[in-house]
Amino acid sequence: MRIVLLGCPGAGKGTQSKILSERYGFPHIATGDLFRAEITAGSVLGLQVAGYLKSGTLVPDAVVVEMVAGKLQGCPDGFLLDGFPRTLEQAQALDKLLRQEGSQIDMVMHLHMREEEVVRRLTGRRSCSSCGALYNVVSHLPRVDGKCDHCGADLIQRDDDGSAIVRKRLMVYEDLTRPLVAYYRAANVFRELDGGRPVEEVTLALMAVIDGARVRS
Ligand code: AMP
Repeated sequence: MRIVLLGCPGAGKGTQSKILSERYGFPHIATGDLFRAEITAGSVLGLQVAGYLKSGTLVPDAVVVEMVAGKLQGCPDGFLLDGFPRTLEQAQALDKLLRQEGSQIDMVMHLHMREEEVVRRLTGRRSCSSCGALYNVVSHLPRVDGKCDHCGADLIQRDDDGSAIVRKRLMVYEDLTRPLVAYYRAANVFRELDGGRPVEEVTLALMAVIDGARVRS
């Protein structure tokens, strides 16, 4: 299946995508993670995009689309997109790329959340500096303070999870990404889910949608 997980920063796209891609074996393509890996590696692309990530603004469409196009070539049987598309131009470019190979997006699932809850979640978010596992100082504490449950490495806060940048990222989402809800609703591949519920409940709701679509196809 070709799935897009849509939602504002902090709605749980990363957490849920990791769970779903393990459960179903879908390749997980997370553009934010890919950019952060390039920045850490000090690559040309990493240097090119670092300023955008730091300021909470979007990387130019052409740069993102080129990176995603390369990744999609390795996924002929489907994928789970997390953090892409984020603009109408990206959505149209994705449709075009898929049309060229005779396929299309099968499903878009939108995790919606209230803004205050999003800010609380994002500013409390921590991730493992080694394996990337996600935690939250409010809702999902590690067993040992500041250390990853899985590998024991230090937990860190993302550079762009401070409150000023979080608010900037939410404004960018409202302006540029929210219009995708109408775009995909019109394409009839759209499902809306409450991202504010506990992680396990959201996972079950997403799985019900995916399993239902698989039975029908
Ligand atoms: P994320 O981890 O998805 O919250 O993304 C972190 C940052 O990476 C965003 O604030 C943007 O600067 C950049 N980014 C990730 N995905 C995209 C995208 N599809 N289009 C433009 N910029 C992106």
